[in-house]
Amino acid sequence: MKKYLIGNWKMNKTLQEATEFIKYLLPQLEAIKKDIDNSSLNLMLAPSFVHLFPINELIYNDSFIQLAAQNCHHETQGAFTGEVSATMLASVGVDCVIIGHSERRIYQKETNDLLLSKIKKVLAAGMRPLLCCGESMEQRNAGEHKAAVHQQLKESLIDLTPLEIQKLLIAYEPVWAIGTGQVASLEVVVEMHDFIRNILSDQYDILSDQYDRLGEQVPILYGGSCNPKNAGAIFGCPNVNGGLIGSAALQADHFMEIITALLKA
Ligand code: PEP
Repeated sequence: MKKYLIGNWKMNKTLQEATEFIKYLLPQLEAIKKDIDNSSLNLMLAPSFVHLFPINELIYNDSFIQLAAQNCHHETQGAFTGEVSATMLASVGVDCVIIGHSERRIYQKETNDLLLSKIKKVLAAGMRPLLCCGESMEQRNAGEHKAAVHQQLKESLIDLTPLEIQKLLIAYEPVWAIGTGQVASLEVVVEMHDFIRNILSDQYDILSDQYDRLGEQVPILYGGSCNPKNAGAIFGCPNVNGGLIGSAALQADHFMEIITALLKA
C-alpha cells in the first residue's frame, strides 16, 4: 500500500515561516526523488487556512507534496461567519481535509454526527477526508479504548458508499499521546491498528462484489508524539501506513528525518 505522511501545523507559523519551511524542504525532496518514486509516498502539509493558497503557489509544480486542510465546515455555503467550506478548500488546491482531530473534538465539541456531515462535504468537493480517532486516557484506564474508537468510526463513517471508502484515510491518534511527548508503545500501536483494520474489513470488505477488499485498502496512519527517533519503529508496525505528525512537523529538518524513516520502513 502507498505510504502517507501528513504534517499538521495547527495554529503555528507566519506566512514567512511557512515559506522558509517549503523553500528548505523542496530541494531536500528533490535529492531523494528516486526513493520517493519507488516507494510511492504521499506527502502532505496541513498549514492554517490563510496559508493554503500561497503554499499551493509554491508547490504547484511539485508532484511530491500535496495540500491538506485542518478542518472545514459541515454546510455547503451560507451565513456562517468565519467558516470555510469544503468547496472553497478544493478551489485553492487542497487534496485532503483532516476531520475530527481531537483538539477540535475537545475545544469545539465536535461530535461523530457532525464529523459525518463534514466527511460528506469533503467527498462531494472531490477531496479525501482523513478521519482522526482515538481514546482518552480515562477511556484507556477504564478498558474502554476499543469501544470508544469503534463508536467514533461507526458513527462517522455510516452510509459511505464503496467509492467514498476508496478515498478515506484514518488516523489513530490516542488523545494522551498528542503533543505530550508520551508516544504510544509499539504494543498499543499494533493492537489498535489491527483493531481498526478489522473494523474496516468487517464493515467494508463485503460491501460490494465490484470492489476488492475495500476495508483493507484504507490507509491507517499513526499520530501522537511521533518524532525522528521513534518514527522508524512505529512505521515498521503492521497496519501502520504512515503518520500524522504535529510538533515534529514544525521543523523542516525533523520532518525530513521522519520522511526518511517512512521511506525505509
Ligand atoms: C497531531 O496533533 O495530530 C499530532 C500528532 O501532534 P503531535 O505529533 O505533536 O503529538
